[in-house]
Amino acid sequence: MTRSLVIGAGGVGSVAVHKMAMCPDVFGDILLASRRVAKCDEIAQSVAKRFGVKIETAELDADVTQNTVDLIARFNPDLVVNLALPYQDLAIMDACLETGVDYLDTANYEPRDEAKFEYHWQWAYHERFVERGIMALLGSGFDPGVTNVFTAYIAKHYVEDMHTLDILDCNGGDHGQHFATNFNPEINIREVTAPARHWEAGGWVETPALSHRETFDFPSVGARNMYLMYHEELESLTKHFPALERARFWMTFGDAYLTHLEVLQNVGMTAIEPVMYEGREIIPLQFLKAVLPDPGDLGKTTTGKTCIGNIVSGQHASQPRTVYLYNVCDHEACFAEVGSQAVSYTTGVPAMIGATLMSNGTWRKPGVFNLEQLDPDPFMELLTKHGLPWQVTELSAPLDF
Ligand code: NDP
Repeated sequence: MTRSLVIGAGGVGSVAVHKMAMCPDVFGDILLASRRVAKCDEIAQSVAKRFGVKIETAELDADVTQNTVDLIARFNPDLVVNLALPYQDLAIMDACLETGVDYLDTANYEPRDEAKFEYHWQWAYHERFVERGIMALLGSGFDPGVTNVFTAYIAKHYVEDMHTLDILDCNGGDHGQHFATNFNPEINIREVTAPARHWEAGGWVETPALSHRETFDFPSVGARNMYLMYHEELESLTKHFPALERARFWMTFGDAYLTHLEVLQNVGMTAIEPVMYEGREIIPLQFLKAVLPDPGDLGKTTTGKTCIGNIVSGQHASQPRTVYLYNVCDHEACFAEVGSQAVSYTTGVPAMIGATLMSNGTWRKPGVFNLEQLDPDPFMELLTKHGLPWQVTELSAPLDF
């Protein structure tokens, strides 16, 4: 059985640890470590109460590689599951290299001072991971993560010659707050306010943030406005499926969210450059995070469903074909099962599944990998088994926008 060190006691870390505790045949001892041990203890109590499983906790500042090296030396895990923030990715990968332990995360490394959403820093570790005989699985959440697996699954079984890919991310939930983000506010707002970018005819096309809107009728949710955005899986998917002529990512936002965001942006509250405040430097977006609701607390009040999936058009057996592969997830059902809303759930469950496939050897090989580079079938099977069932439907025509 695998000994796992999970880093990050936020919404996603909480779901992952609950789901790992539900799989005692795969996951043995679990240590949850984060910047504030009190948050780890809260999660450990919930896991013990719900599933009767005891997990260890520890305080860890994972920005400092040596701290993680020391904790690994003490706990001796087989796998480090990094569910802290993207800023910590490289420091934790360095700790894994030093100690020879496998690594998994759900978001690409980000420098603090510039929103980039690029994989090259982490891909650059490939040779060193191969030489050390360890594996890194990058982006094992929903998007990125499941959307990468969905693309590989469609390519394998439905559309052998893929021409266009559209990833559609809809959160049809209502949390009852004026303004809140459903995962880490700092990362979420950096993502939403960045210029949109999509892949077309062999290159990136950049457009202003939130400037291209379409309406789409989402299964189990209904018609919602969605906006063209850049999202990190587009980089790895266009690299690993170079025949794609166009690849886009869309996310739904309600009008109230966008109005609040516009005001916050106009007054400078979403900036990531430091400003002086009472004699010390603060980053406006980090201050904003401090006053916004904690995404981990939204579960109690959130109702409705998420629907995230891929629409792929192309040729199969010399015939044109368009398929839509998606998952629908219910906020209240997630809360009842593990005490979190669906956005944390849809990220934490794939993290646990990626960890399972590394642990049992199905996906394990030395090097640094995105999910679409591995066989999608076992992952798809486990999605259904662990609470994220999916459906495929044939569409009569490609998207007309
Ligand atoms: P949260 O902000 O809720 O949780 C992050 C946790 O990491 C917090 O407990 C935080 O501590 C801890 N942390 C921050 N810095 C450090 C550090 N230096 N050392 C140790 N712990 C630290 O975020 P989420 O749970 O919403 O998201 C977790 C990750 O998942 C993020 O990287 C996010 O981008 C990614 N994500 C991926 C998705 C996908 O589909 N692929 C979707 C949603 C999220 P503290 O509590 O003290 O702040």
